[in-house]
Amino acid sequence: MAIVGTVSDSGAHPAYGVPRPVLPFATVLLEDNPNAMTLDGTNTWLLRAPGAAGCVVVDPGEEDLPHLERVLAAAGPVEAILITHHHPDHVAGAPWLAERAGAPVRAFDPALCVDAPPLADGEVLAMAGLDLEVLHTPGHTADSICLAIDHGGRSAVLTGDTVLGRGTTVIAPPDGALGPYLDSLRLLAGRPPGSAVLPGHGPDLPDLAGVARQYLTHREQRLNQIRTALSQLGPDATARQVVEVVYADVDESLWPAAEWSVRAQLDYLRTT
Ligand SMILES: [Zn+2]
Repeated sequence: MAIVGTVSDSGAHPAYGVPRPVLPFATVLLEDNPNAMTLDGTNTWLLRAPGAAGCVVVDPGEEDLPHLERVLAAAGPVEAILITHHHPDHVAGAPWLAERAGAPVRAFDPALCVDAPPLADGEVLAMAGLDLEVLHTPGHTADSICLAIDHGGRSAVLTGDTVLGRGTTVIAPPDGALGPYLDSLRLLAGRPPGSAVLPGHGPDLPDLAGVARQYLTHREQRLNQIRTALSQLGPDATARQVVEVVYADVDESLWPAAEWSVRAQLDYLRTT
């Protein structure tokens, strides 16, 4: 359990239904939607500089009205709703929240935006007393972004599903891809030391660069396992055949997700 803030006196992750301050400018509301893909549930982040009137809501979560009512109550006036990527556990509640809060929705994918233009890589959003830097980090999905914040001597990056609070991220079909994901991890590994990870799922972590380097090492180990399997099975082996070798000691219920991952790795190895 890694709590990076000095103001986290309202409990630790997971804290359902209770706004949990993590940094002076970032509070999380954990949606009660745990499952195999969301870990403990979706983290909805509320960003606001100390003393600022307005709030930015990042990833409202599913269309879960008790959760969205709690988000509204904790947020106060909402300047904007930002989306890290198009998966429904992050974005499905956005239209409802936008209407109730009278706030625009911004995402990298124009189709998700409401009354506002799409986010652009490198754009800096001056909102809620903060400067939010948009980093396009494709890989988990093509439209994944992170948001970097430096304020009051503290820095943090909201990572969506690009980096999670525990475990590793899936390269999700149809638009996830390993090559861009490795590039995104290298970008995040280059962030200054001590930048907190504020993830889409799981607990917050103290050092993004360190976690990104661990992810890169893990991916390289997995690629080496696939290369070894292909040397046994032949270069045209299917994803399923590779799973049966590489994941032989893993419960078969996890093989479908493993097959996504292996397919992404085979695509990568066969095109680079
Ligand atoms: Zn996702």
